[in-house]
This record gives sequence, structure tokens and C-alpha cells, in this order.
Amino acid sequence: MSRTHKNVPQALPHIEAMAPYTPGEQPDGDDWLKLNTNENPYPPSPRIGEAIASELQRLPLYPGPKSEPLRQAIADFHRVDPAQALVGNGSDDVLNLLIRAFSDSGASVGMLEPGYSLYPILAGIQKAPVRKVLCGRDMLLETGKIAHSGAAIFFLTSPNAPTGVGYSRGQIAAILEEFGGLLVVDEAYAAFAREDAVPLLGKYPNLAITRTFSKSHGLAGLRVGYVLAAPEVIEILDRVRDSYNVNRLSQAGALAAFGDQEYYRKIIEKINFTRECFYRVLRDRNWFTYPSQANFLFTEPRNSRGETGAEVAENLFKYLRKRKILVRYFGGSSLTAGFLRISVGTDKQMNLLLEAIDSWINHAQQK
Ligand SMILES: *Cc1c(COP(=O)(O)O)cnc(C)c1O
Repeated sequence: MSRTHKNVPQALPHIEAMAPYTPGEQPDGDDWLKLNTNENPYPPSPRIGEAIASELQRLPLYPGPKSEPLRQAIADFHRVDPAQALVGNGSDDVLNLLIRAFSDSGASVGMLEPGYSLYPILAGIQKAPVRKVLCGRDMLLETGKIAHSGAAIFFLTSPNAPTGVGYSRGQIAAILEEFGGLLVVDEAYAAFAREDAVPLLGKYPNLAITRTFSKSHGLAGLRVGYVLAAPEVIEILDRVRDSYNVNRLSQAGALAAFGDQEYYRKIIEKINFTRECFYRVLRDRNWFTYPSQANFLFTEPRNSRGETGAEVAENLFKYLRKRKILVRYFGGSSLTAGFLRISVGTDKQMNLLLEAIDSWINHAQQK
């Protein structure tokens, strides 16, 4: 391509300097065993298809700007006021709104390390400095460090990604008691956990909780998430969002999913059961694995010589990928580089994975 006539326009320097978020690989074709992005292995509730089909004829009309019926259903489910809920185009949309409204170059963004790698990207777009609270290998939550991080907005993922470690309501309350900024508890995986922070909303106006339909409700492709917070915070976020941020089909589909809680309760139970079985298998093999309250496990692979570490984890990652099995490898930090994050699929999928792991241990050329 010739660029002799016009110069390529320069974006703002902080945008020119940034790297985009790298999502987990989404390969074409159905012949992959996909255990890399924590999607739900079970089919959506049949009610979703019906709801979306009957919405098709209304596509010429703009969607409800506030996703009103869905807000109401979410509020009823969590026993909060509809004024305490806002729906987004995936919870990533909601995280983006929170960053845009509560951070800038003078108002920093806090997060745990390891944590969800989208937060620093969103902060970078906003020119907000990032303050990371480093975890140790034990992944214990240092509530005082978070409370005194000086962040204007702190993102606490619970259960955390990529470790799966869940934090208790008491620990979160301890942070809220002392923290001067807005604490966002990203509960993308809370449906798989023993407890959540929702009961704290009434007591702490500096708490926001984000949720998604992507993992527990198997609707990653529909893009629906939401945030629960004090009405004052929701009102601020309503100013910042696109006026039609959730399309008609997504609103209708998510509402139908929410109306079929019994269906999802069973799926979540099944996934948790599979997770616990797989956890025991890994521990029996002497692979250090964090106890998980999410739909994935973070495990430290051990090769036939008993070795662990970044090379071993990456070797297994590549071995599996050649066999069309995708898991997630986070090589960027010493806390994560020796591990693989494995989404919990069906029992059958986990058995296929275990067979591949066995053949890696028995036959693979391990350098
Ligand atoms: C998957 C995930 C999200 C994004 O959810 P979407 O609703 O699909 O945008 C947010 N936070 C964490 C920690 C996640 O793992």
C-alpha cells in the first residue's frame, strides 16, 4: 500500500503506546476442545431461542435504552431496588463505564496481581495510573494493602482470575470499612462460589458488584453483564453509557435465561461437581492446584521427571494445542508462568484432557 499522498494520522501518544487486550484464542471450527476462556460447556436454556425468535419482528425499533425489564428481573433476583442495577454489553462494557466515570490521570486504578488483565488496558485508555497489590504464592488477600492503596477505584475479582480463589464477605467488608475509593468486586464467577458480596450493598455505598451472563449462563456470545451499586453510582454510570448499549436480542435472551433459574442451578451444580473431581485428580498427581470457587482450575503441571515451572507449563500448553486442546497460559508474570488455567467442561471433556496429559507425561519429548 502506498502512503505517499497522505500521512497516517497519529492518535494520542498514550494510545499510540498501548497494546490491545489479548483475549483467549477463539479458533474457527468445532473440532477444538476449548478449555481456555471459561465458557459454559452446556447448551443454553431452550427458552432463550424462543425469546430471541419472537423479538426478531421488533428489530426495526431501537431497544429499550435502560434494558428496563431485565433491570427489574436482576433487581428481583438479588433483592435490590431496580435503581441499583445497570445492564451492559457484557460486563466488560460495565467495567469500561466504571473506569471512565471514576478514574483519570489524577485518580488511579487499583487491582490485584495476578488479576484480570483487561483492567490495566481500560485504565491505560483513560490515562489512569495502575496500582497493583501483589499477591504471594498463597494468594491470601491483604485487605489493608487494598484499603490503603490510594486507588480511586479498585477492582477486586472474586473468585479471582486466573487463580479461582474466592474471598469471603467478611474480607470484603473489612476493605470497605477503610477504603476511601470505589471498590468494584468483579463477580464474573460468583455463581460458582460459596458466597458473594451482594448483602453488603445496603451497608456500603462505596461498593459496586459486576456480574455476567457469559460464564454461569453460557451466554458469552450474547454479550450481557450488569452492575449492582448504590442508586447514586448507577445514576452516574447511566450518564456515561451508550444510550442503546444492549441490543434487543440480547435483552430478550438474557431475560429468558434469568427466568429459567432452575435450568442454570443444575448446570452450575454439575460444573462444580466436575471441578471438584478434576481438582482431586490433579492433587492426586501432586500438581499444586488452588482450591477453586469458579468454573476453572489453576494448576502447576509436573512432568515425568517431577519438574515444575514456566518451561514445563508452556511445554504442556503447546503439546495440548497441537492436539487441538486449548487451555490458557499466562507467561507474563512469575506468579502465573508455571501454571495453566483450565476451564471446567463436561466430564467427558475433562477425561479427554486427562488422556492427553497422560500421553504427555508418558511419551512426550520433554526438554
Ligand atoms: C469473563 C470475565 C469478564 C467479562 O465478562 P463479559 O460479560 O463476557 O464481558 C469480566 N471479568 C472477569 C474476571 C472475567 O473473567
